[in-house]
Amino acid sequence: MSSIGNLTVLTGPSGVGKGTIVRKILESHSDVWLSISATTRKPRLGEIEGEHYFFLDNKKFQEIIDCEGFLEWASFSNNFYGTPKKIVKEKIEKGTNVLLEIELEGARQIRQSFPEALQIFLAPPNLYELEKRIRGRGTESEESIRDRLAIANKELMARKEFDAVVINEDIEKAFKEIEGLMGLKFNK
Ligand code: 5GP
Repeated sequence: MSSIGNLTVLTGPSGVGKGTIVRKILESHSDVWLSISATTRKPRLGEIEGEHYFFLDNKKFQEIIDCEGFLEWASFSNNFYGTPKKIVKEKIEKGTNVLLEIELEGARQIRQSFPEALQIFLAPPNLYELEKRIRGRGTESEESIRDRLAIANKELMARKEFDAVVINEDIEKAFKEIEGLMGLKFNK
């Protein structure tokens, strides 16, 4: 067993089901740690500070950028999102397997700083299905839904940049596939 932890990046359009897959991975694998991102987005109903995100204002987010406190950060649909650098590096150094659930620009930055990270792209079966899922979630305004679908188009075009593309047609199947890619199947 290697002494440093593995880094896995899970990317895919908003609404594709990354959150559900991440929850399933964490439930089944206590040796995987999910990085909690910082964001300037307002909390959705039920979202908890420090559990879903660290909710920051623009000034605080900018301060962290200025002191190079993010491993990566990006602007997505008029808000900023970033991965805290210090804790992620510490976890990896201590041998913990770290999972990042981030969008495309962030994944590209991680590819530069951590070329050894496994990069997985979770794709919807098609864009109609994705729209249905985003609308079904009921968390976004019409403007945000349109914006997220436009971004999804661009993200889908970049899927070939990733080490693996998993189609989320069936959540159990997609989960098993990602478990396999992360090498978790036999570590239970
Ligand atoms: P949401 O607003 O739906 O929670 O997230 C919007 C998008 O931002 C999703 O694609 C999510 O994966 C991504 N995201 C969440 N945290 C981060 C982060 O720390 N960095 C980057 N680059 N993207 C993130």
